[in-house]
Amino acid sequence: MRKIFACAFGAFLIVGAAAGFTGCGKTSVKRTRYSIEGEYLPAEGRLKASMTVTVPNLGEETLESLSFELWPNAYREGAKYAPVSELYGDSAYYNGKSYGGIDITSIEGAKSYQIGGEDKNILSVALNEPLFPDESTSVTLGFDVKLANVNHRLGVGERNITLANFYPALCARGEEGYLEYVYASCGDPFVSECSDFDVKLTFPSEYEIAYGGAGEVSSSQGKKTLSMKSEKVRDVAFVLGKDLKYMQKSIGGVCVEYYYLDDSSPDTTLQAATGSIEYFSGAFGNYEYPKYTLVQTDFPYGGMEYSGLAMIAANLREDEVAAVVAHETAHQWWYSMVGSNQFENPWLDESLAEYSAALFLENHPECGITYADFIKQSENGYRAYFSVKSQLSGEKDTGMNRSLTSYSGEYEYRNLAYDKGVIMLDRVRMLTGEKAFLSAMRRYFEDFNGKIATPEDFIACFRGSNVEDLLRSFVDGKCVI
Ligand SMILES: [Zn+2]
Repeated sequence: MRKIFACAFGAFLIVGAAAGFTGCGKTSVKRTRYSIEGEYLPAEGRLKASMTVTVPNLGEETLESLSFELWPNAYREGAKYAPVSELYGDSAYYNGKSYGGIDITSIEGAKSYQIGGEDKNILSVALNEPLFPDESTSVTLGFDVKLANVNHRLGVGERNITLANFYPALCARGEEGYLEYVYASCGDPFVSECSDFDVKLTFPSEYEIAYGGAGEVSSSQGKKTLSMKSEKVRDVAFVLGKDLKYMQKSIGGVCVEYYYLDDSSPDTTLQAATGSIEYFSGAFGNYEYPKYTLVQTDFPYGGMEYSGLAMIAANLREDEVAAVVAHETAHQWWYSMVGSNQFENPWLDESLAEYSAALFLENHPECGITYADFIKQSENGYRAYFSVKSQLSGEKDTGMNRSLTSYSGEYEYRNLAYDKGVIMLDRVRMLTGEKAFLSAMRRYFEDFNGKIATPEDFIACFRGSNVEDLLRSFVDGKCVI
């Protein structure tokens, strides 16, 4: 995600759903596979769906249950951890307060389920039989998502329907079990292992659909159905719209699509997307998905990344577009291909995505923002933040390893996870030189593509250079900028 601050302070039918089967057995499945069939029902403002999830146990412990994140419940009335902060409340909830949520309507292939967690955010599924290491099991869940009227990741927006984080998403596993997180209004709380998806999504034929992955749309009786596959991805997301215009361009064998609502220079926006794909592929390693889709929505700020797809806000200023597109596109490397724990260490993917945007702009002077100006902007923003923080509270802790819910708000999050990270990576490149810097970034990409990397994993990629201490001093909050 990329935040833009205006001021410094700123009838459902499950058609042929794959049957759940309960047996466990030695598995050749190496990634979790989701098979989702659903229909968007505009009159009800709902998405009704069925999902068969096949889960391999790739760890060493026997599993008795599976845990899933129920992200749509953050939109429900009374949620403790709302998805939208006060700062963006009015622009997101364009018709006033509106609520959503998710109901589990059926389960097959498991003993029982329970909705719990700190904020009704976790679905625990008790398995019929223990799932031993190297075995897999399948569970089929019916679910019904009520969409809030909101311009956000999931909802009926003013001009689009955004369907992201709508399905029960298997929690990633950490050393002590499932990583279960609440929603957070600043930052992206999603932490997922790479998985494979088969999705069939039906919707009224007056809509167009934007999606990542490989697929095709068929029409029948006033409805369209998208059938798509996406492999080795963190998630799937879709945008439906009646007024979406479309352009595309291929770059290095990757089809880059741009769906837009209103853009006075769509060529330039598409060019920023193709240029970013080309530049990052050369600098860090190849883009691995069959296509890349950029789509304008009424998202209240900046943009939001998913595997193979990014949303950008339709109200971006012309001079913001290239940086936002480059930032969101960089997340294909630093979120999607190389995963990290965005809840516990949000700086890791945000700093890298933001600094990657600086590198892109440095190499694309036609975008009109120099590298020096980009760094200066981050320095000015961060110093203003630090000065205010230390004067107001006397507190000088600027450590970056803090979880999303421990930030005091959007302003602190922006300055520590983005601006400070940009300054840090600029200083690292000054010390190592460009060649060694990019070589370490490539090592990070190669070693952790398809995995969830830690801050130490990233720092270790600069091994043999003299910057490991510098990186730690920034991350631990000990250096003065
Ligand atoms: Zn971001």
